[in-house]
Amino acid sequence: MMREQDPQHRGIGMTSQRTRERLIQRLYDEGLSNARVLEAIRRTPRHLFVDEALAHRAYEDTALPIGHNQTISQPYMVARMSELLLAAGPLDKVLEIGTGSGYQTAILSQLVERVFSVERIQVLQDRAKERMTALNLRNVVFRWGDGWEGWPALAPYNGIIVTAAAAEVPQALLDQLAPGGRMVIPVGAGDEQQLLLIVREDNGFSRHVLDAVRFVPLLNGPLA
Ligand code: SAH
Repeated sequence: MMREQDPQHRGIGMTSQRTRERLIQRLYDEGLSNARVLEAIRRTPRHLFVDEALAHRAYEDTALPIGHNQTISQPYMVARMSELLLAAGPLDKVLEIGTGSGYQTAILSQLVERVFSVERIQVLQDRAKERMTALNLRNVVFRWGDGWEGWPALAPYNGIIVTAAAAEVPQALLDQLAPGGRMVIPVGAGDEQQLLLIVREDNGFSRHVLDAVRFVPLLNGPLA
């Protein structure tokens, strides 16, 4: 279970309770209806995932900067992608590419058995790890590496979620998807991106093109 242990932050959490409820209502009004997903978002203190200077904006439905040219995902998108992953039933092993602040990771950790999260920027990953510890979320393991390669040693995964946009779907991720497994990934170059749901069927993959979206790019090459 998750606890807010840091008394310094508890005050912000309490005073923002109404703002948090407003966010949940807004997501619901926008068509997000998975009660478990909404409850995870309600419980999770998003202000702990951004700099203190931005904490007062943490319950707006917007992406916010987290340094290193990266952003914490918009709550709507976190909820949407989580719903899509879970739509066919419970998942035990989920691979996440692009840990960032760890906010999506924290939401997923409350919805699935185990989360495996890969990030290329080590300091972001270190901070995300600290947040999981502070919130007592213990079913997450982290890997510093290139998400284009996935995490082959622990494959296959029942769910794969990618939180940065790739020009094309990485082959390694397709290979690491279990039979019946589901992948949610933004694909496209520049500002023209689409959210795809890919399902591994008995004889290949089915692809569903969903929303127009805007993510930071899934980067190539050496680690920063
Ligand atoms: N879900 C995160 C979103 C972070 S933004 C959150 O809510 O905070 C996307 C993240 O993907 C960034 O942290 C970026 O460093 C990471 N990323 C980009 N390319 C990557 C790659 N090839 N491998 C692993 N992580 C990558």
